[in-house]
Amino acid sequence: AGSGVATFALPDTPGVTGAQAADTIVLPYNDLEAVQAAFHAHPGEIACVITEASPGNMGVVPPAPGFNQGLKDACAKNGALYISDEVMTGFRTSRAGWYGIDGVRPDLMTFGKVMGGGFPAAAFGGRADVMAHLAPAGPVYQAGTLSGNPVATAAGLAQLRLLDQAAYDTIDAVSERIRTLVTEALTKEGVTHRLQSASNMFSVFFTGREVRDYEDAKAQESFRYTAFFHSMLAQGVYLPPSSFESWFVSTAHDDQAVQRIADALPAAARAAAEATA
Ligand SMILES: *Cc1c(COP(=O)(O)O)cnc(C)c1O
Repeated sequence: AGSGVATFALPDTPGVTGAQAADTIVLPYNDLEAVQAAFHAHPGEIACVITEASPGNMGVVPPAPGFNQGLKDACAKNGALYISDEVMTGFRTSRAGWYGIDGVRPDLMTFGKVMGGGFPAAAFGGRADVMAHLAPAGPVYQAGTLSGNPVATAAGLAQLRLLDQAAYDTIDAVSERIRTLVTEALTKEGVTHRLQSASNMFSVFFTGREVRDYEDAKAQESFRYTAFFHSMLAQGVYLPPSSFESWFVSTAHDDQAVQRIADALPAAARAAAEATA
């Protein structure tokens, strides 16, 4: 359900009816066997599998090699659609999003955030025969107040035209610099941690184990992140306010910004080391 729900340990959210929840099966991430078991238990009943292309809503937990392809194969075999949520990864991890990295072609994909260039815009698309179900070609009607909003569309397009390979090279390089600085600072203070990345998205988990799913992510010592975060904030560096969120970098992170982060990290690493639950 997202990093906010994870941060506050909410089991669900009021307003979602039991009937709606009953139409959904939630499965552990990176677990193809669980997906296959669900298809087996509900033959012909599963319309689609919805997954983040590479999750950033429990911290950064990339798909294990072959996981997305395995999801797609299971969907194809069972007559279900494979829907890839690229709202975070789209136009960020590469010009073609996570699809540009792992090449697993979804039946439908969703976009938002980066796509609007700072304006509210979102989109979905996919296989022509699936999209043909939308009105006016088909019976599925879809519209909204901000659908195709001209200002947001123009802003998003202008940004996407500016995002050339050089921009992605810059973002990837600055991400790597910050990752290295964070690892160095925490290691120096002897703080057990894992820095996980997916392209230029990354996050820090205060655990010694690889994080492959939400259970692993929850097993980290989140209280260390709280101390780390507030120390950075007090020094003028605003990190994502949750250990279940991805760190994003942009072309605006220049040498001066990276230096400010580097200057703030030693004290923050010490705060993480000294934090108690
Ligand atoms: C933010 C986010 C959403 C929500 O997108 P909206 O366009 O605001 O509905 C969906 N999926 C992921 C992965 C997100 O990060």
